[in-house]
Amino acid sequence: MDSFDPRLIAVRSAHFIAGKYRDAQPGLEVVRPSDGQAYAQLPIADADLVDEAVNDAWQAFNRSDWASRPPRERARVMRRWADLIEADVAVLAPLEAVGSTRPHKDVIAWDIPYVAEGIRFFAELADKHGGHVAATQTDRLGMQIAEPYGVIAAIAPWNFPLSMASWKVAPALAAGNAVVLKPSELTPFSSLRFAELAVQAGIPAGIFNVVQGDGRITGDALCRHPRVGKVTFTGSTATGSSIMSTCALVGPKPVTLELGGKSPQLVFADVPDIAKTARTVALAITGNAGQVCVSGSRLLIERSIMEPFVAHLQAYFEELRPGPTWSSESTLSPIISRLQASRIDGIVQRSRQAGAEVLTGGGLFEGLGGAYYQPTLLAGLDNQNPAICEEIFGPVLTVQAFDDEQQALSLAAHATYGLAAGVHTADINRALRLVRRLEAGTVWVNRYGRSNDYILPTGGYKRSGIGKDLGREAFEANLRFKSVLIDIVQ
Ligand code: NAD
Repeated sequence: MDSFDPRLIAVRSAHFIAGKYRDAQPGLEVVRPSDGQAYAQLPIADADLVDEAVNDAWQAFNRSDWASRPPRERARVMRRWADLIEADVAVLAPLEAVGSTRPHKDVIAWDIPYVAEGIRFFAELADKHGGHVAATQTDRLGMQIAEPYGVIAAIAPWNFPLSMASWKVAPALAAGNAVVLKPSELTPFSSLRFAELAVQAGIPAGIFNVVQGDGRITGDALCRHPRVGKVTFTGSTATGSSIMSTCALVGPKPVTLELGGKSPQLVFADVPDIAKTARTVALAITGNAGQVCVSGSRLLIERSIMEPFVAHLQAYFEELRPGPTWSSESTLSPIISRLQASRIDGIVQRSRQAGAEVLTGGGLFEGLGGAYYQPTLLAGLDNQNPAICEEIFGPVLTVQAFDDEQQALSLAAHATYGLAAGVHTADINRALRLVRRLEAGTVWVNRYGRSNDYILPTGGYKRSGIGKDLGREAFEANLRFKSVLIDIVQ
């Protein structure tokens, strides 16, 4: 069940508009990262097709009862959608894994249940945020009522195609909006099935649409469309800035931006089990081959335990077996593209030239078809080193030693990013001091990485983002608030 033959997975080169697949002329070749083979063609929605998709979504928003039906009814349909997604695992999981970096076994065990339960979480919020009564003078009644925006444009990255799309789509739909999703051009196909299941569950045709294409043409046209009331984006900081300036020029219209990171993991000498903590630290940079926004890419370690800790990390890194996402034997994911792999290597080589010492790894695995990068440990770096400054988005961990808490904090502070941080210590007071002082949107203590506690929002400080995904905050971010004042006749 964990392995499959990629040649047997059929994908459809189409958009999904007004509740139907829309086949279209191929535009871009899509390559499987696991073996470097082109396996499909992707159509590119131009400005006219984006216009049609957004107008259809707007019509569906106005003509269907999606926004006006009782919220509990909306929630019931969304729960059915979640059930259909879980029941569809045999189709959806290979579709997600075949062209992405997500191992099939992890998609089954984690991504699909996570997406389904996330939809249920947002469905449960549908009738819990109607607005509130304002403390006006008593001869009048003041209220704020919550309303959907209309059409929300969701733009998603490739690293967890379905999960990242669901973070955008589920709260927007639960709040009564229509959505036009543009998945990444590198991982476009599972979203089509995701949308098809939404219609099967009873979400009215036209309320959830998928347009395919790249950022320059399709993504840009979506952001510019006057009927798009809000843009919610996950991706790199550079693209997020460009989207924000487009939205400022044509709107202004609101944006939620979940962007890049360069997150530190602080490890103190009092951790009770060095081997266990080293494994947590290693997993936080090698999971999905480091292609995770919150990857713990900078290890800051108390000098007295650096040597044994690094030895554990090296042993763990060397255990990992690169291989295709469709094989249950693989324990290290491919890099999404050859281009991205050479970007990773470029930073590692520049880091080396700037004085870094490569303790493990430092190059691509050869002869595997796809691009696989060796889990890499870099030491001897100063804060100006490219591997410290730039988001690498690969399995590359920098190691810097500190002698006390203050030094750990100053190394942890990053000039650009503030997405997440990890603290590993047995001293609860130290942990709580650091939680307050670390400039990051999420801090994990004695763990690293998200759980399925959807109630905790996620989002970045500094240039790691604006606004939140997950939690009540993500639901509210898909609503706008109208003030109402009524005079009471005495
Ligand atoms: P990317 O910025 O290259 O692309 C993301 C999406 O934006 C794609 O769908 C792309 O087609 C689209 N796009 C590109 N240019 C556009 C434009 N001008 N207008 C509109 N849309 C445009 O990012 P990526 O390489 O797909 O993803 C990796 C990045 O995403 C990393 O930086 C990672 O840290 C970040 N990320 C952040 C989070 C988070 O929650 N903070 C989660 C996952 C990934």
